[in-house]
Amino acid sequence: MATIYARIPDELRTALDDYQSQRRVKLTAAMVELMEIGLGAVTDKTTVAALTERLAAAEADAAVAREMAIQAENARQALESRMNSQADAFAAVGGALNQTIGKCPNPNCGKPISGRDLVVSHACGTCTGSLADLLDPAQTHGSSINGTQYLLLIGALGLLVGMAVVAQSKNP
Ligand SMILES: [Zn+2]
Repeated sequence: MATIYARIPDELRTALDDYQSQRRVKLTAAMVELMEIGLGAVTDKTTVAALTERLAAAEADAAVAREMAIQAENARQALESRMNSQADAFAAVGGALNQTIGKCPNPNCGKPISGRDLVVSHACGTCTGSLADLLDPAQTHGSSINGTQYLLLIGALGLLVGMAVVAQSKNP
């Protein structure tokens, strides 16, 4: 047991005497009891302050996590819509490439040629004759090329090229 000598204000001494007589304990026991209650209250207050601080930190973390989740969702939606329009453009090009776009200009052949023959292999799929001359816009008005199909193909290719340019300017 340790000993404490302390000078205390008269009012505090009077209050201590009142407490002691109410509790029917000795003065020392009353002082120890009151000091334990007081110290407990200080500890509780510290604990509450620490918990409040931790709660505030956790709330701040949660706000950051929410913000990051929103940004990730926005990025995902943007990517998804870009991929959808890219898929649409590829489908349009794919469709146009498979369309019959005209007839082979080789008089000995004259078989149908596709968009793919014209812009990918530049050769007739049947006689393997060169179609390079048909890519010249001045030549496309000839009877061997369907102008509408040709424009659809060029339009789809232009859409794809335009999207590639936009994607490149967004991600230098
Ligand atoms: Zn041919």
